[in-house]
Amino acid sequence: MNGAAAIVHHPVRRIASSLARRLLLDRQARFWLRELEPTWSIGEIRARVVAVIAETPDVKTFVLRPNRAWRGHLAGQYTTVEVEIDGARFRRCYSIASAPGDALLAITVKQLPGGRVSGWLHGHVRPGSVLGLAAAAGDFVLPRPMPAKLLMVSGGSGITPIMSMLRDLAAQRAVPDVVLVHHARSAEDVIFSAQLHEMAGRHRGLRVLRCLGDGASGPGRFDEERLSTLVPDLAERETFLCGPPSLMKRVERLWAYVGAGHRLHSERFAPPVARAPVASRELAVTVTLSRSGRSFAASSGTLLEQLERAGERPSFGCRMGLCRTCRCRKLTGSVENVLTGAVSSEPDEDIQPCISVARSDVELGL
Ligand SMILES: Cc1cc2nc3c(=O)[nH]c(=O)nc-3n(C[C@H](O)[C@H](O)[C@H](O)COP(=O)(O)OP(=O)(O)OC[C@H]3O[C@@H](n4cnc5c(N)ncnc54)[C@H](O)[C@@H]3O)c2cc1C
Repeated sequence: MNGAAAIVHHPVRRIASSLARRLLLDRQARFWLRELEPTWSIGEIRARVVAVIAETPDVKTFVLRPNRAWRGHLAGQYTTVEVEIDGARFRRCYSIASAPGDALLAITVKQLPGGRVSGWLHGHVRPGSVLGLAAAAGDFVLPRPMPAKLLMVSGGSGITPIMSMLRDLAAQRAVPDVVLVHHARSAEDVIFSAQLHEMAGRHRGLRVLRCLGDGASGPGRFDEERLSTLVPDLAERETFLCGPPSLMKRVERLWAYVGAGHRLHSERFAPPVARAPVASRELAVTVTLSRSGRSFAASSGTLLEQLERAGERPSFGCRMGLCRTCRCRKLTGSVENVLTGAVSSEPDEDIQPCISVARSDVELGL
């Protein structure tokens, strides 16, 4: 037996080469599956858009038919949508507005001025388009057993996870005593207006109250007194809240004041308030990226903001520590979690740059 044959037949080499061949075949299979039919995929969740519905002047619902990799959702959960824009991949979280049992999935997206993904979805996605999705996630879900009395407080596009809950309750004919207080800029900005009206007509246990603004700015004004008059037993109701940060802050304050904070369940689409820039404690901190070998001086802000300011294009989804899209490895250095204040100096740990600030020189596995 000559040397070359001995190398080829060595058992470890044989296994390695068979694994490599399999990987290559898997990759080729994925490529050809995607070419033949974009929603066919090995393990990846993809969904074909079957309808696009204009809900209000700046909100559209995308009705999706997911492939078999989709494992379903609980009412109130979100999915992470992945899109490719000009060759770069972006991920954003969107609450699922449809009921869990529905054959089709719906996400309802408000187009933000200057918003990259919401603008792209509104401008480019048509029936027939295919989107990448992540499995449903989130703990903004109805408790089991179902409480006797529920209150939903929403503002603007914050109605989406709540709509899924209402549709779920309606499908199960379990709407014993539910009040929805929805805030919108004007009547024409009320998302799902007709469906809510129709649902309230069908279910005597559902009361829909609308708080409208002047149409000029922000969703309808939240009014503590008005709400307490309309829903006098609000402190006794298991409450689900989703809306813009200003509305959520007011509701949280009121619920704390009436001693019902433990009954309040919240879902945020954006960080609570524009955080004051978190200074790197005036330290002369350097961030090093191990893959590219780049280093830059860190100033204020989270590591995600610093990476972006330094011209990097890190992936991110929610920017508030929920979806873990931005997660990366910290090889060395100390970081502070801005949500908990915990400082960690462990080497080789996963961190979420969107909620981490450097507390020493750090090296990231990017
Ligand atoms: C759990 C969860 C569920 C969600 N569900 C929904 C939902 O059901 N429906 C929905 O509509 N949204 C939902 N969101 C919000 C959604 O994920 C996106 O954040 C939203 O669509 C904006 O993304 P974008 O890419 O369009 O905006 P981005 O490009 O990320 O920009 C966000 C905002 O920042 C501003 N901005 C961007 N770049 C700059 C800059 N350089 N300088 C100054 N300002 C800038 C934009 O004008 C925009 O207003 C959810 C978020 C979470 C976390």
